[in-house]
Amino acid sequence: MNTELQAKLQELIPGMAAVRRDLHKYPESAWTEFRTAAMCIKKMQELGYTITMGEDAVKRDAMMGVPAADVLKAHMERAVAQGADAELVAKMEGGMTGFWADMDFGGEGPFLAVRFDMDCNDVSECAAPEHRPNKEGFASVNKGAMHACGHDAHVAIGLALAEVVAAMRDQFKGKIRFIFQPAEEGVRGAMPMEKAGAVEGVEQIFGMHIGFQANKMGKVICGTKNFLATTKADITFTGVPAHAGNAPEEGKNALLAAATALLNMHAIPRSGKGDTRITVGKLIGGEGRNVIPPKAVLVLETRGITSALDEYMFGEVKRIAKAAADMWGCGYSIDIKGGTKSGESDLEVAEVVAEEARAMGCFNEIIVEQNFGASEDYSHFMSTVQANGGKGTYVQVGSNLSAGHHNGYFDLDEKSLEDSLVLMARCVYRTLAK
Ligand SMILES: [Zn+2]
Ligand SMILES: [Zn+2]
Repeated sequence: MNTELQAKLQELIPGMAAVRRDLHKYPESAWTEFRTAAMCIKKMQELGYTITMGEDAVKRDAMMGVPAADVLKAHMERAVAQGADAELVAKMEGGMTGFWADMDFGGEGPFLAVRFDMDCNDVSECAAPEHRPNKEGFASVNKGAMHACGHDAHVAIGLALAEVVAAMRDQFKGKIRFIFQPAEEGVRGAMPMEKAGAVEGVEQIFGMHIGFQANKMGKVICGTKNFLATTKADITFTGVPAHAGNAPEEGKNALLAAATALLNMHAIPRSGKGDTRITVGKLIGGEGRNVIPPKAVLVLETRGITSALDEYMFGEVKRIAKAAADMWGCGYSIDIKGGTKSGESDLEVAEVVAEEARAMGCFNEIIVEQNFGASEDYSHFMSTVQANGGKGTYVQVGSNLSAGHHNGYFDLDEKSLEDSLVLMARCVYRTLAK
């Protein structure tokens, strides 16, 4: 490895855990990453990156599942109380927490993007005394919010990588963009950033996650295949309340409309073209035992192995919602809460990652390609880059996890911060070195 690169990595590795632990203590969920983003923007500016933020980086009318205005305001205030730069936080008003940071090295070279996600989960951190964040004093202080997916680690890696790149800038050609994405959970953040131009002109993109299918130290998956496309939506049926005893015929039963829709959505014929899913995860409806229910809401998601298959599933959902509402004389409305495209890493890029992983010597299980069978917002960026003729891959870096992702007992082995940084830095160096 280039000696300057090696020296810079050795200098930065010890500091990453502290950054990760600070973020772990102050987690912020989708569209409220005010403190996290402000801290990252400050750091990236200090390193000499050009920042694109606010409405320039997130298309407002494409944002999905944004918290109510009073919730956003409370979180902005919390971020400032927890040490965020008030001026930067004010610029993210409305939940515009996504941003990107560019560095142009000049000369003929590729335009490379690397993407890191910043949001936490709506999960309460466990109170168990043996849980390391409790034992070592960095457990979440934000009620109902926890970094239970490892995005705190991703941000720490992203910032360290940005510092390595800035230090090595004289040796690079082309251009790099760091995309710091909000609202990965619920797959809400990538599309509004892509619509604002986050990957315009990007020729190659890397994304990474600690753990997931690489659920032990020493394992690395260099190319992730078969990201499922997905659509998340709430469907509200509206009827008319009436006395259940003396005038049920005057009512319009929204709960029955929702129940009819629910059962028939789960009966959508499956496509012969590939895997699909539908889940109505929640049905909320009705007001009282003796009242014809005037309102019911279905909380649901569809998925497909390709974007076309997800569109087929969600198209059927819309048709059934309309038919069920008509059947019971009710009205209905559909509110899209999230969604992302399907995706496939490019084998050619995954092989480059695998070569670098082999050269590191710390990985004993190197998988070039693996099927994902889940959804990740990153696939929206990657498939957009690929549609414009570029390439990309999504890397899963192994870590020993104390519990599964999104679990209140989740924790990771901080040695995986080092493995991730070194692997990403080697891949960036290989792509951009003169
Ligand atoms: Zn997650
Ligand atoms: Zn995640």
